[in-house]
Amino acid sequence: MPEETIFSKIIRKEIPSEMLYQDDLVTAFRDINAQAPTHVLIVPNKLIPTTNEVSAADEQALGRLFIVAAKIAKEEGIAADGYRLIVNCNDHGGQEVFHLHMHLLGGRKLGRMLPQS
Ligand code: 5GP
Repeated sequence: MPEETIFSKIIRKEIPSEMLYQDDLVTAFRDINAQAPTHVLIVPNKLIPTTNEVSAADEQALGRLFIVAAKIAKEEGIAADGYRLIVNCNDHGGQEVFHLHMHLLGGRKLGRMLPQS
């Protein structure tokens, strides 16, 4: 069994978060360290550590991440101007919390996708 992270506690509402959405498959809450005016994390309720562990059984939950991202983007008023969805994986991807999650970032022009190096 993969080790739980703080996100499991947020999903179970054992620790507080600014939760925007929850259903049987996914939960969305504001990032504690926002990198943009809108910065929301959308996570499957099931603990999947990284995108390396996704399986066909997760298709519905992973699809739901996009449905909820689009819904929240509309609610936040950023859909027309646009936004960015990011899923980091492991060390090179910059993943810090090992419970797969989608970042929804918007509310300002986000610039280049990657810093130039
Ligand atoms: P990663 O780098 O793993 O893709 O992103 C993890 C994100 O989780 C970071 O943006 C970080 O600010 C956010 N985060 C970490 N701990 C907490 C927490 O306890 N509550 C909330 N709301 N966000 C968190």
